[in-house]
Amino acid sequence: MVKSTLRTVRLLEKENFLDIVVSLKAADVLTTILSYELISDKIPYPLHLGVTAAGPSPQGIIKSSIGIGTLLAQGIGDTIRVSLTGDPVEEVKAGYGILESLDLYKDKAIFISCPTCGRCQVDLKSIVQKVQSRVERIKIPLTIAVMGCEVNGPGEARQADIGIACTKKGGVLFKRGKVIKKVEEKDIVKTLLEEVEKFK
Ligand code: SF4
Repeated sequence: MVKSTLRTVRLLEKENFLDIVVSLKAADVLTTILSYELISDKIPYPLHLGVTAAGPSPQGIIKSSIGIGTLLAQGIGDTIRVSLTGDPVEEVKAGYGILESLDLYKDKAIFISCPTCGRCQVDLKSIVQKVQSRVERIKIPLTIAVMGCEVNGPGEARQADIGIACTKKGGVLFKRGKVIKKVEEKDIVKTLLEEVEKFK
């Protein structure tokens, strides 16, 4: 694939056509990564990344994230396409997710939340879902941490723009590293949303 692409690029160059974008898509993740790595230092043209025909979600998102993400993390690639069997809106969301995960794009809230364990005494999943569904359309590049306990939660909560480390009865609210107040469990969602509003 790389040899064939190079042949085509050289043909175009011979015709003095240099307005080129190169895409080397394969359905296999390792082939995709290796192909782009091989060609990236051989030509000066922008590279369009994608794992083609990656399949339905979640398989397609996993394959695309690994393939595209591995290359972007090395500084390889200029445009991307996530190719899923399904709703194109999901392709775009997955693409933004890849860019956000690599700090290449940030225009909305990013959530940090723990997987929960025996220490978690609140319904963390419900809290995260409620807050996420309310702020996902707000274009504010914030980091919001929602952590399940006061043992391991404060670290992440302190580093976020807005964070909460839940306790047995509620949570401790952090804003840019400082403790703001203690909140009862029933008020956690409302309080987090109020704090997000203040960043508008
Ligand atoms: S932050 Fe606390 S509740 Fe969440 S996974 Fe870690 S130890 Fe468990």
